[in-house]
Amino acid sequence: MNHEFQYITQLFQSRTPFSQPHTTLANGDDASVHHIPLGQELVISTDSSIAGVHWPENYPLHLAADRAIGAALSDLAAMGAEANWVWLAITAADRQSLQQMSDGVVEACLRYHVELAGGDTTRAPRSQRLNSLHVTVGGLVNQHQSMTRSNAKPGDDIWLAGHLGLSAAGLSQWLDGETQGDFTVYFSSIQPQLDMGIQLRNAGVCCCIDVSDGLLQDAGHISESSHIHLRFDWEKLQQLPAYQILKQHYDEATTQQWMLRGGEDYALLLTAPKSLRQQLTSLNLCRVGTCTSGQAVSIVHQGQPLLIATHGFDHFA
Ligand code: ADP
Ligand code: MG
Repeated sequence: MNHEFQYITQLFQSRTPFSQPHTTLANGDDASVHHIPLGQELVISTDSSIAGVHWPENYPLHLAADRAIGAALSDLAAMGAEANWVWLAITAADRQSLQQMSDGVVEACLRYHVELAGGDTTRAPRSQRLNSLHVTVGGLVNQHQSMTRSNAKPGDDIWLAGHLGLSAAGLSQWLDGETQGDFTVYFSSIQPQLDMGIQLRNAGVCCCIDVSDGLLQDAGHISESSHIHLRFDWEKLQQLPAYQILKQHYDEATTQQWMLRGGEDYALLLTAPKSLRQQLTSLNLCRVGTCTSGQAVSIVHQGQPLLIATHGFDHFA
């Protein structure tokens, strides 16, 4: 067998034997084939993770690859879909990099119980030595039940599941040379909230997004899609565990910046009618604001508007 296929088998296929019940032709052919049960729909999303863009060049590659899978799966969580399949197009600078990235991919697929249904494996040009992973994910959801960005209504509460700002603080520590810093673990071990996404959908939530580019920026996507004003309460955001954790290390202004603009904690941001308050509180969510008519994102502190730039990460800024 030539090296390429030997690596594909050794590093990926033989280590991810798990197969979903709805797969009718598994990894190993020209394509995989899947059956969509009656009454369900297929949700698909794709995500790129590139060395030097999504992780620092000197970052451990198995952690970078693990993150790449987790980040892609987070989009399924936001839709309220089950996570079933991953397809991976991977480019490696050399064999060792491929091996290291495959370790992270395999670990993540086993952890999240998703099937590696196919992929493509290539080596980067020798002149570039670039490592990257392009991850496509697929999952099932009951027909017409996926949560979208366009379903927020005036009067809805705004809720948050998960952390804000801890991953951004971790990346900053890493870049400052504090590779064992208290926050670096939040950057390396992101957790797509797959179970939470399904619980939210089952509770009747219809509007959700995962926070990958910063709270205010991603709230802006709900605002635009739903034509709604999302008004956050800084006092409520201060009750999040992330605020307490960040405040032990950073001043108020820095904490605020990390929480409002730091991305990649993959928290779920959702809106829901007041009738769901009790149910969502029992899921350990934090209520952090209100939707009103209009189209904006604002944040209020002690009754006054808090002036803060809303933009988060922008690849083309
Ligand atoms: P093709 O030439 O038909 O596109 P390839 O030769 O690229 O197929 O890949 C051979 C098989 O190995 C295919 O079934 C493909 O899905 C799988 N594969 C290739 N790379 C990966 C990978 N990184 N992870 C999982 N499966 C992979
Ligand atoms: Mg083929």
